[in-house]
Amino acid sequence: MGYFGRLKQAVSGFFPAHTREDKNTKTAENTASPRGLPNIHILATGGTIAGRQTGAGPHYQAGEQGIEALIGAVPTMRGLANISSEQVTNIGSQDMDEKTWLKLVHRVNELLTRADVDGIIITHGTDTLEETAYFLDLTVPSGKPVVLVGAMRPANAVGADGPANLFDAVVVASSPDSAARGVLVAMNGNVFEARDVTKVSTTAVQAFAAPNFGPLGQVHDGRVFYWRSSDHRADHTSARQHPEFDVSGLDMLPAVGIVYGHANAPALPVTALVEAQYRGIVSAGVGNGNLYHEVLAALADAASRGIAVVRSSRVAAGPTMRGIELDDARYGFVAAGTLNPQKARVLLQLALTRTQEPGEIQKMFDYC
Ligand code: GLU
Repeated sequence: MGYFGRLKQAVSGFFPAHTREDKNTKTAENTASPRGLPNIHILATGGTIAGRQTGAGPHYQAGEQGIEALIGAVPTMRGLANISSEQVTNIGSQDMDEKTWLKLVHRVNELLTRADVDGIIITHGTDTLEETAYFLDLTVPSGKPVVLVGAMRPANAVGADGPANLFDAVVVASSPDSAARGVLVAMNGNVFEARDVTKVSTTAVQAFAAPNFGPLGQVHDGRVFYWRSSDHRADHTSARQHPEFDVSGLDMLPAVGIVYGHANAPALPVTALVEAQYRGIVSAGVGNGNLYHEVLAALADAASRGIAVVRSSRVAAGPTMRGIELDDARYGFVAAGTLNPQKARVLLQLALTRTQEPGEIQKMFDYC
């Protein structure tokens, strides 16, 4: 029996109720780790956490340092877990792409089937961290902890936040209470769920928030405290059901674009995506996902041609609800609920690997 299995026995009744099943793995059967500590594997992808400031000015380059240097900066993490690591890529996350997502998910799923891996940490740039987190949330069936972490200040900056965030990520990934919560994000002392977390500041160390449901918990003094479960279904009455998307056979994802709403918005971005044969369009609409009339006409036309159209909102919080000011059923649109446009795009890409039918896609948005 491995680390979590033994701990589970010791604290039976301590685990939160959840419905995400660990299909690939049986954590309780993991082999014991050498020092009785969990085995945590770090996959490094770059970002400011691996960035280096050159000279006195604010300029810096993301993705400059290798993972060994980041681990070396936080020697105390080795008291929490047996740490292993590998460099998947070393980029600023503005350059994150589907190829890397698929490479990551294949590697994560492979690692999590192993009895000698108890949890995974992914170091990542903060710009698109939320998208990678949600993509993995929808494609990793294991209940073992998967934790994304980044930083707002380069590794060699005064007051660099990377080392503390990385230490916290090890705390989170090592905790049995982190199991079966979906993919998590550890930033600046907070733990967020992948679905709701979003970057809310371009520069502040407190760069992330979960605008609809708040953080899941907090890391303090080397311990993680959870305030609530990861339940965010629309009705808030039942525990989270989490359908996974199997991307094991895929080397690319369906093309989905986002069009941004504003006063007097042109139809041009919509027609350009239609002409480029995109299979889906997410609207970052105004208010409750509303659309300038010319954009509405272009999206209705796109939907009538079989392109999946999802209405989300440019507003930071609150759901985009079905049929409030717009008759979604009439136009064949899907309402995104509390998913922001960039998360709605991720889900729509995965949904389109199964179906193009708006009713079926709406169910996935209600469900995921
Ligand atoms: N743009 C870079 C990235 O997302 C740096 C931002 C960051 O990591 O905070 O990787």
